[in-house]
Amino acid sequence: MPIATVNPATGETLGTFDPMEPGEVEQRIALAREAFTGQRVTGFADRARLMLRTADLLDEDSEHIARTMTTEMGKPLAQARAEAAKCARTMRWYAARAGELLADEHPAPTDVADSGAARVVVRYRPVGVVLAVMPWNFPLWQVVRFAAPALMAGNTALLKHASNVPRTALYLEELFRRAGWPAGCFQTLLIGAGAVEAVLRDPRVAAATLTGSEAAGRAVAAVAGDEVKKTVLELGGSDPFVVLPSADIGRAADTAVTARVQNNGQSCIAAKRFIVHTDVHDAFCERFTARMRELVVGDPLDENTDVGPVATEQGRADLEALVADALALGARALCGAARPAGPDRGWFYEPTVLTDIGPAMRIHREETFGPVATVYRATDLDQAIALANDTPFGLSSSVWTRDERETARCAREIEAGGVFFNGMTASHPAFPFGGVKRSGYGRELSGHGIREFCEVTTLWYG
Ligand code: NDP
Repeated sequence: MPIATVNPATGETLGTFDPMEPGEVEQRIALAREAFTGQRVTGFADRARLMLRTADLLDEDSEHIARTMTTEMGKPLAQARAEAAKCARTMRWYAARAGELLADEHPAPTDVADSGAARVVVRYRPVGVVLAVMPWNFPLWQVVRFAAPALMAGNTALLKHASNVPRTALYLEELFRRAGWPAGCFQTLLIGAGAVEAVLRDPRVAAATLTGSEAAGRAVAAVAGDEVKKTVLELGGSDPFVVLPSADIGRAADTAVTARVQNNGQSCIAAKRFIVHTDVHDAFCERFTARMRELVVGDPLDENTDVGPVATEQGRADLEALVADALALGARALCGAARPAGPDRGWFYEPTVLTDIGPAMRIHREETFGPVATVYRATDLDQAIALANDTPFGLSSSVWTRDERETARCAREIEAGGVFFNGMTASHPAFPFGGVKRSGYGRELSGHGIREFCEVTTLWYG
């Protein structure tokens, strides 16, 4: 894929970038390693000062970077502004908490005495240079979610961003530089996917994190495994949104729309499969479909737009293929299932609701990355849980019920990294985020996220 900004609302190429030569990549790896030797001896307070300055600058740049993201990948402008604000909040959260989250631990005195030591300390030390391979869908957030904790822990970062968001990638490097981080703490590598392996095999690179497709995750984890390097993988999701009879159906249906079409339907934690109890199925479908039809699809720079284009031409083609396969095998479209009427400019797709989904359809097993919802009918809680778990993925889930027994069962039995009751999945810096099954492993955010790129070191004093 060429490294280029192509506006998905118009198909116009706004800029192309030459990939960095191997020599330049080598210099940047060397600088990242050198910066690490400096960073690991700085204190939390020094790093917090820099992180707070980064957050302030990001707030000042909000409008500029929001427009950059919108023209690179098509998210509605208000959502782009919200993404920038969330990144600044997360930077401040880690600036305030990193010291406490990575504080030394002291084993129980009886255990210390039992070992023959005078004193034992368990310390979290940074791993070193971390390579981040990131996707285009939340081009700021996916990076900051990793970088804020990683830098606060004392690591340095090399970003290989998706090839369709080079301007956001370059902005991020510039942002950390302007905030005063020493040279090499955060650098962008403008390279294609094919150049990732060499970077990851470099002995100066200690670990990697990847957010993106299962295929990309598998490729990076295979190389990292061969090199015995740690990885965190945050891959796709096909999150269930389960609606049971005791729920507030109106609120569930309205939230379902946002949960499905946020970010033009291209979010790993978007609700994708709507599993509705038969007693409330028709009422839910009626309201959900009516709300999906009301959405304004159009120019993402227009403040009235609810749903912008799919980010790439290939992405829309993939979505269309999934819908066509489902319709050919007997699915029914309650709305959408087509490009909007009018000139075919940009990669727009109508908000779509499909029902009568069967297990042979690709859409039953694969992630839909666009504004397409599938609705299933469940006759009871057992069937609802079985359907929720009938997916290779397990990122998050949402369950709508007021029944305590149903709540307790779903908390135990739904196979996902999160279960959100009577609300949609959303990430928060204080809560761990990550998946099970093919959605990946490791956790981001919270104390769990910052410890992923730390070495747990036992200091034993005789
Ligand atoms: P990819 O997973 O291909 O891209 C994500 C990142 O991984 C990019 O930086 C990409 O680089 C890089 N990459 C891709 N292949 C490799 C590889 N073999 N080795 C090293 N790095 C690699 O996502 P796509 O944009 O192609 O989207 C395809 C599908 O992936 C979507 O339709 C969706 O289902 C899923 N996806 C899920 C996301 C999530 O948040 N869970 C985010 C994005 C996609 P480059 O851009 O240069 O190819």
